[in-house]
Amino acid sequence: MTESEHIGMLRDSMRRYIAAHAPREAARDWDKRNHFPKDAFKELAKTGVMGLTIPEEYGGAGVDLPATMAVIEELAKRSSALACPYIMAACYAGMNVVEAGSESQKRDMLPKIARGELLFAYGLSEPNVGGDLASVETHARMEGNRIVLNGAKRWCTGADIAGYIFCLTRTGPKEDKYKNLSILLVPPTAKGVTITPLDHLGIRGVETKDVSFDDVELGPDAILGGPDKWNQGWRQLAGRALEVEKLELSAVALGLAEAAVADAWQYAQERIQFGKPISAHQSIRHALAEAKTKTLAMRLMLDHATRLVQDRKPSAAETCMAKLYLCEGAAEVTQKCQRVMGAYGLSNLMDMERYVRDAIGLPIVGGSSNMQKNNIANRLKLAE
Ligand SMILES: Cc1cc2nc3c(=O)[nH]c(=O)nc-3n(C[C@H](O)[C@H](O)[C@H](O)COP(=O)(O)OP(=O)(O)OC[C@H]3O[C@@H](n4cnc5c(N)ncnc54)[C@H](O)[C@@H]3O)c2cc1C
Repeated sequence: MTESEHIGMLRDSMRRYIAAHAPREAARDWDKRNHFPKDAFKELAKTGVMGLTIPEEYGGAGVDLPATMAVIEELAKRSSALACPYIMAACYAGMNVVEAGSESQKRDMLPKIARGELLFAYGLSEPNVGGDLASVETHARMEGNRIVLNGAKRWCTGADIAGYIFCLTRTGPKEDKYKNLSILLVPPTAKGVTITPLDHLGIRGVETKDVSFDDVELGPDAILGGPDKWNQGWRQLAGRALEVEKLELSAVALGLAEAAVADAWQYAQERIQFGKPISAHQSIRHALAEAKTKTLAMRLMLDHATRLVQDRKPSAAETCMAKLYLCEGAAEVTQKCQRVMGAYGLSNLMDMERYVRDAIGLPIVGGSSNMQKNNIANRLKLAE
């Protein structure tokens, strides 16, 4: 498959960056310690890739979603500790401010995001709220010129390293479920914000947090898009940035699947059993041939959906299909490759066990596979 020349060059530059700043041993250590590698991230920012979702007039490189996905894919191959904060900058922050920020928010935030100095954490999920996001219980009221926020967010990845928590908030009666929601940009350092860590399997390197808000006071400039966007949060959330959210997780899935296939492919030719490389055994040949084939199908599907979103063409069903197919595909491919490597696929001296741990979470997070199937059927107007 041919890729445009600029994306090929970008991949080469990402591979050089990874070789210099994220060797395998370092990436294993970040994973083990659940550690955000600040210095390696600063070096990543110097390559200019944070600006790939930001127009040039705001200090970015121009909105280039295929390039953004290529960066995520290359980073995910090596480390979630780099792929996650990149997503927090380019996608959570960049995409949302570009699409829904007020002019003053754009002027203030986009140059910082493009320099890698400002990340957003997504504060959507709550203790009682998973897939049904519009039922959030975190609530805010306007008192004169100040906003008072109360409630709790769960699974808020990177809340401690973000400049703002992108907080989906109930701002009116809950009976009007989709209407009375606003997106507030909450500094994690604001008085009344408490952050506590959560632990989980896989996707490590940026800690996931419980966040509580106790009478947090904010100014009207904390409303994404400005004061006019009070109670317009659902429309802002369900826009192009949410389409990109499905693509970015798909790009992580593709990176993990590709890395797993590459490692297993090499291992199978080096490991000798019964007097020949295990790659000479038909079962291993078939497993690797299937994994390669699936990975190519994943790549084509991601490219197709990304191109639709880049060109602002209808993409609501296709992005859900990509999220469904790629995330399920990564879980399948990584486990298939793990078996090719036998016991070494389970060893924490190798990277395969990390690929599997990261991949099995992907069909669960960011809208589960079940939710994607619901969305596909609904968007394609399948009669109920
Ligand atoms: C490591 C990690 C990082 C995360 N990071 C973030 C983050 O940064 N920000 C954030 O806001 N959230 C984050 N999340 C939360 C994640 O996005 C949610 O877990 C996910 O959206 C699903 O919510 P839930 O797990 O509560 O599942 P639930 O919605 O409670 O669903 C549980 C099960 O029921 C099924 N189900 C529910 N409703 C339906 C339905 N209508 N039809 C069919 N099946 C249904 C689901 O598919 C699933 O199998 C993170 C989670 C993890 C584990």
